[in-house]
Amino acid sequence: LETKEFRRQGHMVIDLLADYFENIENYPVRSQVKPGYLLESLPDSAPMQPESFETILKDVHRDIIPGLTHWQSPNFFAYFAASGSTASFVGDMLMNGFNVVGFNWESSPAATELEIVVMEWLLKLLQLPKSFSFTSDSGGGVLHGTTCEAFVCTLLAAKEKILDQIGRDNAEKLVVYCSDQTHFSFQKSVKIVGINPKNIRHVLTSKSTNFQLTPHSLDEMIKRDVEVGLVPMYLCATVGTTSTTAVDPLGPLCEVASAYNMWVHVDAAYAGSACICPEFRHFLDGVEGASSFSFNAHKWLLTNLSCCCLWVKDKFALTKPLATNPEYVKNKATDSGHVVDYKDWQISLTRRFQALKLWMVLRSYGVTGLREVIRKHVKMAKDFEELVTLDKRFEVIVPRYFSLVCFRVCPYVIGKHYDSELEANEFNKKLLESVNAMGCVYMTHSVVGGVYFIRFAVGATLTEDRHVKKAWELVKDQATSMLAGYAN
Ligand code: PLP
Repeated sequence: LETKEFRRQGHMVIDLLADYFENIENYPVRSQVKPGYLLESLPDSAPMQPESFETILKDVHRDIIPGLTHWQSPNFFAYFAASGSTASFVGDMLMNGFNVVGFNWESSPAATELEIVVMEWLLKLLQLPKSFSFTSDSGGGVLHGTTCEAFVCTLLAAKEKILDQIGRDNAEKLVVYCSDQTHFSFQKSVKIVGINPKNIRHVLTSKSTNFQLTPHSLDEMIKRDVEVGLVPMYLCATVGTTSTTAVDPLGPLCEVASAYNMWVHVDAAYAGSACICPEFRHFLDGVEGASSFSFNAHKWLLTNLSCCCLWVKDKFALTKPLATNPEYVKNKATDSGHVVDYKDWQISLTRRFQALKLWMVLRSYGVTGLREVIRKHVKMAKDFEELVTLDKRFEVIVPRYFSLVCFRVCPYVIGKHYDSELEANEFNKKLLESVNAMGCVYMTHSVVGGVYFIRFAVGATLTEDRHVKKAWELVKDQATSMLAGYAN
């Protein structure tokens, strides 16, 4: 760590990134390289001798940037955005510079205590129930990297808790529930914690209920399992599903689950951030009946990757299976029982000082500033939705709740052949591919109820009205020329 060189290199990297953000619109949003491009151009072993920083940065420009899909581009409307900010970036710089390993309180008291502070701030901001707070008897919050980790840890907590009650021989009987819209990372997490994959129930959803998980269908499914001697263990409910941002009705679902003594986790990975605005908070109504709740600050709360905020009502259920106390980490603070040792709240022992970046974001924007960003994104999505609705060739296929618009060219516009739905799916797929191939914007798709549609997700920090309008013009013009070709 030679400080003179550190300053020099640091300035060069900040300059590179500042130039990158200033010119980001000049890059094709979706990377245009072919598979293997980097593997072919880089040497197959590490350099024997040190190379100059200038040479390395030159290669970042030449080799790395072309292979990036530009998630920070204002023309990025794909998946859910990874909204970053300079506030979070500088927080990350501090974290990297200090490079502390805050596995327990003693290993870096500030890392643990700042994490408790930001989790309590966020809890208040989201109006989560007091039972999730450190100020209650057994609640508390922790930062994980991803929702998948939050799933794994809460599944393990639920599994151990129930096996303590019914006996370890019954592990094969445990059943977990979610909907056919639940994110695939849930299925992966269930496998990781050793639940029999045959015991994952995907409750079917439908267009008539806007792809919500309905309490009645859940109850029916649980009853069937109980009748054959299986044990319902865990329900994953979602606020803002990945395909269409459907919102599962938390209150009624928690009521069903509580009748069977199940753990309920609420996954609000994307939409959770919106709930800091009073007008969106009602989407979390009923969360007080849940056992745990998580959202990804790295999706829509201006926090750079990765940062999943998880709260639990029963921290002892979480720490019991995850706690480790080898001789080499023993210390007085832990023995006192008055500190939080976050290593016992997560998968790994080692952990980063993630709270710094969230603290920076919360302080630099303030609640008002963060709400403004969310509202601006929702307003832009609403404007896009209006443009789609005004063009009778298009339809919005599900209600828009947040900043995602799900739309397609209607089958009747295309459907002069015998199966217009299939035809519409093919047409919309080609439309999306041709729009993305231009490189000016990037959107992605999904399929629900057999319908292929385009997802227009607003959420990149740099997006302005003009980018949304331009994106619509591109889609509309491309559809017009494709339909003209179709007619001939
Ligand atoms: N849940 C929902 C609703 C999501 O949209 C996503 C990702 O988009 C996830 C979970 C997965 O999150 P992670 O990648 O943090 O595990």
